[in-house]
Amino acid sequence: MDMEEWEQRHTEAFYDAKEALPYLDGMFVAYNSNIDAIRHLTEKDMIKLVGLFDEAEIQNRVAVYPREITEPVDFVARLLISMREGKAAEVPAYTEDIHKWLKEHLGFDYALMGGQAGIISNLLARLDLKKVVAYVPWLSEEQAEYFVDNGNILHPRVENGQVTLKPPAEAFKPGTGSKVNWIFEFSKDMKVTCAGSTFKVPRDNRLIISSRPKWIRLDMDREIYEQLYALFPVDGAMLSGYQMIKEEYEDGSTYKDYVERSVKVIEKLKSLNPELRIHVELTSIQNRLIRKTILTDIVARHVHSLGLDTVEVANALNVLGYEELSYSVIRKGENGIMSLYQGAVQLMKDLKLERVHVHSLGFYICILAKGHPLTLKEHRDALLFSSVLAAAQALNGKIENLTEAEAGLEVPVSAAGLEDLENFQLYCTGRKLCTPDEFEYGYIYGPDHDAILIPSKVVDRPKATVGIGDTISAGAFAAMLARMKQKQAGK
Ligand code: ADP
Repeated sequence: MDMEEWEQRHTEAFYDAKEALPYLDGMFVAYNSNIDAIRHLTEKDMIKLVGLFDEAEIQNRVAVYPREITEPVDFVARLLISMREGKAAEVPAYTEDIHKWLKEHLGFDYALMGGQAGIISNLLARLDLKKVVAYVPWLSEEQAEYFVDNGNILHPRVENGQVTLKPPAEAFKPGTGSKVNWIFEFSKDMKVTCAGSTFKVPRDNRLIISSRPKWIRLDMDREIYEQLYALFPVDGAMLSGYQMIKEEYEDGSTYKDYVERSVKVIEKLKSLNPELRIHVELTSIQNRLIRKTILTDIVARHVHSLGLDTVEVANALNVLGYEELSYSVIRKGENGIMSLYQGAVQLMKDLKLERVHVHSLGFYICILAKGHPLTLKEHRDALLFSSVLAAAQALNGKIENLTEAEAGLEVPVSAAGLEDLENFQLYCTGRKLCTPDEFEYGYIYGPDHDAILIPSKVVDRPKATVGIGDTISAGAFAAMLARMKQKQAGK
């Protein structure tokens, strides 16, 4: 495979997508967003924090090893444990009190939009889509501030029973709490003293206090559901956050209620625009029952497109009963990419999807059902566009607009990714799944599905990597829809 050629293809695909994007009317994006507050801790901070409590009480709490943060001393105890061991940890907090306490006693260095729907909405707005309709059921005043202020993000607001679209800053629900995840970073060699003993932090690491307010529900307000037409016209919907569904709630409702309502929303969206394409972005879901239910009851038969990384492919296969294939994807051995390919095909078939987009470091695979309105080259170019966005995001930690995204064009295509694809080519041509010629272009015409495999651009020393997966999926999905609209317009 020719590296130069792939660089050239990236460049052409990027500018083609840029031309196609204005053909989109809009995208609907729901459900999850939160605030990621990042704070780097110093020795001085630790002296202050420890000084706020009785040191014997802290010691006792360290011995108890709190599994959730119910009061501030739990936080200090878990922080000391993480620092002493140099281990990353994530501890849930189910109330908002700790957020208020941390804001008051520590504050953060900077805060970012977090959560898949939040990240995707901001990215699409920066790609200059005419309209991004974001919907976050728990949009608080504080959360609304993290949406970009480009004028093209709108959020439904209910006023006197009427649904209208407003900028998030005018659409938040007064009185709603915020979901803030705190990320505390600490450095190697920091000295920490508590109750007369001092230790040195063995390595750089972080403690995350993840906010899981009990009142959060993955649901849509009744009025918005009933007047969903007010959000249109949109050409696509990108849905995520289903992992927040819980098996049981204190009020007696269960996951079944929320799954059923989620499906109703999808069906209604499709009925309002039969051409509408729906993409679900997966993330890791610890609870196997919820993971399986999301795949079989929400994704299967209802949505068109699924985006996920390699670990999630393995996790999905595992709950769908393909354990061996799942292990082989995880092991990433010599056959890793072949298993990944087979796994993605299996997901497309079992979940009755039109498209499965898997991103990995160095290459992306997209499996397509037969009969899609775009050519394989057009699908390939949508993926290449997203590879440029991923590179720009890794390089600068952010993408402010399409012009800044051009920085991604300078990032080289991953040599390791190309090598993985070359191995895959040998496997495919050996089994007559494709000819060497078609593979050179990055696509395969299979008997019951088609596939795209591209090497992607990878930044050696990324500035930040959070949310790159979401950027890849959103960029490719938007570029694909834009090309479909452009073609419909006869261009
Ligand atoms: P997240 O949920 O944080 O987005 P994912 O695992 O879903 O994480 O996605 C990470 C993806 O980002 C990888 O699959 C890879 O394609 C891409 N990526 C990670 N690091 C880089 C990098 N340095 N340069 C380019 N792309 C990267």
